[in-house]
Amino acid sequence: MKENIKSFIEAVAKKNTNEPEFMQAVQEVAEAILPFIAEKDIYNGKNILLRMTEPERVITFRVCWVDDKGEIQVNRGFRVQMNSAIGPYKGGLRFHPSVNLSIMKFLAFEQTFKNALTTLPMGGAKGGSDFDPKGKSDGEIMRFCHSFMSELYKYIGPNTDVPAGDIGVGSREIGYMFGMYKKIKGEFTGVITGKGMSWGGSLIRPQATGFGAVYFLQAMLATKGLGIEGKTIAVSGFGNVAWGAVTKANELGAKVVTLSGPDGYIYDADGVSGEKIDYMLELRASNNDTIKPYADKYGVPFFEGKHPWQQKVDIALPCATQNELKLDGAKSLVANGVICVVEGANMPTTPDALEYFHQNKILFSPGKASNAGGVATSGLEMSQNSLRIEWSAEEVDRILKKIMTDIHESCVKYGMQEDGYVDYVKGANLAGFVKVADAMLAQGII
Ligand code: GLU
Repeated sequence: MKENIKSFIEAVAKKNTNEPEFMQAVQEVAEAILPFIAEKDIYNGKNILLRMTEPERVITFRVCWVDDKGEIQVNRGFRVQMNSAIGPYKGGLRFHPSVNLSIMKFLAFEQTFKNALTTLPMGGAKGGSDFDPKGKSDGEIMRFCHSFMSELYKYIGPNTDVPAGDIGVGSREIGYMFGMYKKIKGEFTGVITGKGMSWGGSLIRPQATGFGAVYFLQAMLATKGLGIEGKTIAVSGFGNVAWGAVTKANELGAKVVTLSGPDGYIYDADGVSGEKIDYMLELRASNNDTIKPYADKYGVPFFEGKHPWQQKVDIALPCATQNELKLDGAKSLVANGVICVVEGANMPTTPDALEYFHQNKILFSPGKASNAGGVATSGLEMSQNSLRIEWSAEEVDRILKKIMTDIHESCVKYGMQEDGYVDYVKGANLAGFVKVADAMLAQGII
């Protein structure tokens, strides 16, 4: 089997040169799925995983806009429509200077499995641009978003492809993009999720990724007879996902002691709570991408250029970006007695760090399972838009919690090892694969 996996990876790598993030995601999935396929007649010999690694469509486009100095700027836009076997393409838009084809493809590939896990009918996609929102004025953000949508609109629609936010894309950007889509198409539809409440958004959507991650964490802890109350948590990031996670963790009696930005992390021994959570949002909205002002304002230590994984905590919740939790971080978390690692971001853990957690039998959940609450609630926003109604916050939260508990159950079903340890990575990959693969097989070779 090792040889099979190796030759599969080599074949995919040959067609996708210089795409390390995409190949990292494919490798993780192949290791879990190829042995499973080999044992199942319905999947074996159908090249099903190879078909899944080839995007159905990749769109790249020019985005020109004028900055506040009157200079013309040029960025690159992307939309990777990965898989539509179980529903319209669905996935966020990321605006960050690191965005490239490899990152878009890795995210779209992960999204396909994640969306399948939610049990809702959504295919997988991702998009974005190498545009850097840092330090941009509101006018610049608006002009960029309008220009971006003046091209993207050709490829999306409420029944074909429904984008949403991701890093660098919040409610303001969604608003500008939605406005341009509506102007060009002349129709008011649920073409994008994460909309404002007065124009088709869903309650709880802003908090959903973080809330969902904490619900998933609760389900994981429960397998060990543990609760979240009184636990200390290291959170990385200070964006939308971190905000939702910190809010819910506080509500359930846990203490979040760290937040991080690209400049380093803060350690708040009293816990990030109350008005400090609002301040974290303010910092995010300022578009300066720095967490240091939190340390200055509240007089807590700031560790420049460092990740929070060196702190002693019960739970680690990486909520920033891919490959931010490396082997040294994993070693120090384990040495300090971490119980559970829950990915709030997409693939924040490097493969060697992940292996280290597995070797040490740490409860570990991959983002495609534990951060699925965001896109799941996007799916609920789509449902409300189709029905032209608005559900209460309690109703959306109830369904979100149920979805996260169901995803946890699927992971346990497919990831339970002989010694009782649950391999959530394997479980999430297999559960997502089965749903997408069955639909692809039913629809024939297309
Ligand atoms: N960007 C989020 C994710 O990675 C949400 C996508 C969506 O709501 O479509 O899942």
